Amino acid sequence: MKVKQLKKCGYCAKEISYHEMYCCDECQNSANKFYETRDKVTTLMSVINGISVMSIGIGLFIFSFFREIGAFMVAIPLVILGILYILFPIPADVMIEKNKIEKAQKTTRYIGIALLILGIIATIFAIITI
Ligand SMILES: [Zn+2]
Repeated sequence: MKVKQLKKCGYCAKEISYHEMYCCDECQNSANKFYETRDKVTTLMSVINGISVMSIGIGLFIFSFFREIGAFMVAIPLVILGILYILFPIPADVMIEKNKIEKAQKTTRYIGIALLILGIIATIFAIITI
């Protein structure tokens, strides 16, 4: 049996013919816009990502000694990351390759919402701890 490799629109993942990249002009435009935004925010995002992950790591580490500082060092970056992922859903390349831009962005937004909720819970917890 021959397995036919289906080609999918780079934005919405609809099936397309082999010589196309996107199913329609709209998808092409949306994809262009996405890559433009990604180029603009990617450096800033990775800096904020790095600082946030570091803060969460240190926060978790010092939590047993300095409870309130630790809790805030975890809570605040979670809120910032959450908002950032909701506003600028920039998925990893592997996600784009697998799910195409539209779905990958949706997934990234859900991750952002989850982080934001976690961050809010952690903030409430931090305030209660004090
Ligand atoms: Zn499409």
